[in-house]
Amino acid sequence: MIIICNKCETKFKVLDNLIPPEGKMVQCSYCNAKWRQDNVAELSTNLGLCVFWIITLCITFSILYLGLIIVYGNTIPIPKFLSDLLISFGIPIEGGNLFGREFDR
Ligand SMILES: [Zn+2]
Repeated sequence: MIIICNKCETKFKVLDNLIPPEGKMVQCSYCNAKWRQDNVAELSTNLGLCVFWIITLCITFSILYLGLIIVYGNTIPIPKFLSDLLISFGIPIEGGNLFGREFDR
């Protein structure tokens, strides 16, 4: 994790396990300032993991949703902007699906 000196704001990269969860007294090697450093690694790791999963889920659901639109055509609701986008990519979603049924428009 990255810790920052309270006084001169120099940043130090330290191994997560060097600072125990309850915190530890540390000293800046530039200005010799001392402060009690909390272990902030767990928080940032959890936040990163959270963002990662949210993005992963969004991408997964987007792909599933697009797959449903492509397979089932207009039998599921499609927002206007999305149908316009799909049509502009040459994906015929009105009146049929990609498997060749009812492509009469
Ligand atoms: Zn310092």
